[in-house]
Amino acid sequence: MSRTADAAASQCAEQLLRDLGISSLPVDPVAIAARHGIVVQPKANAEPGISGLLVKVGDTFGIMYATHLGNEGYERFSVGHELGHFFLPGHIDAVIGPDGLHASRAGFASVDRFEAEADHFSAGLLMPRRLFVNAIASAGEGLDAVETLATTCKTSLTATAIRLAQCTPDPLAVIMSTGPQIDYCFISDTLRELSGIDWIRKGQIVPRASATFAFNQNSADVKAGKRTSGTSDLQDWFGGSRSIEVTEDIMGLGSLGKTLTILYGFEVPDEDEEAEEESTVASWKPHFRR
Ligand SMILES: [Zn+2]
Repeated sequence: MSRTADAAASQCAEQLLRDLGISSLPVDPVAIAARHGIVVQPKANAEPGISGLLVKVGDTFGIMYATHLGNEGYERFSVGHELGHFFLPGHIDAVIGPDGLHASRAGFASVDRFEAEADHFSAGLLMPRRLFVNAIASAGEGLDAVETLATTCKTSLTATAIRLAQCTPDPLAVIMSTGPQIDYCFISDTLRELSGIDWIRKGQIVPRASATFAFNQNSADVKAGKRTSGTSDLQDWFGGSRSIEVTEDIMGLGSLGKTLTILYGFEVPDEDEEAEEESTVASWKPHFRR
């Protein structure tokens, strides 16, 4: 996955909104499809894991979206994902098979380049940066912010949390886990810039000392969609050289057995102060000639 290509996909969606004169939330992806002559229909019996289909018959396109999760935000995201294949350069030729069909797995879990780009297109379409950043300013913090923004944008908690990590001016991490395993992680630019932070790799283990680890011990709580809060040390999650206490908001995502964790409220030591302290300490240290 390339961060540049992903950002370009979001920007392509934002340009489309400007071209269509859409400047308020929530964005209606079905209306956008209709304006381009694309018919959108629900599909009740989609294969497990399939979020939607892009169908091409002659020169006409149609979109079907899976309804089995009963989650309006996810359905809108799925329609946005198919629109991504329609609007992103090179996608139609790459993804539609000889049968005129493309079956999608939307939701940021696929490692396929085209699927990832279509996800980022959908996120940019439903949560365009400029409007979303304005909404972030009054949305609160942590999971509360994610829920408020999801209501404003009519998007799923997962997609909203990931977009929050991409657009927030604050240090923040969004981590998806299943039991002891981390599925994936998105971190904000300001957190990325903090020195000494390692990446969480796919398949890494949820740190034992975290509140998420304790929460995931009880799969019934995950399935019931319960939520809780705690604190943990950023170092336990990302490694790095510094211990930084963070607030940890946690929510079970229901039948999928996945858990959403938001790390925020970082107590970041001021780098200048730290550097000053270090230089003071250094000047007090005896110097030996070699
Ligand atoms: Zn797709």
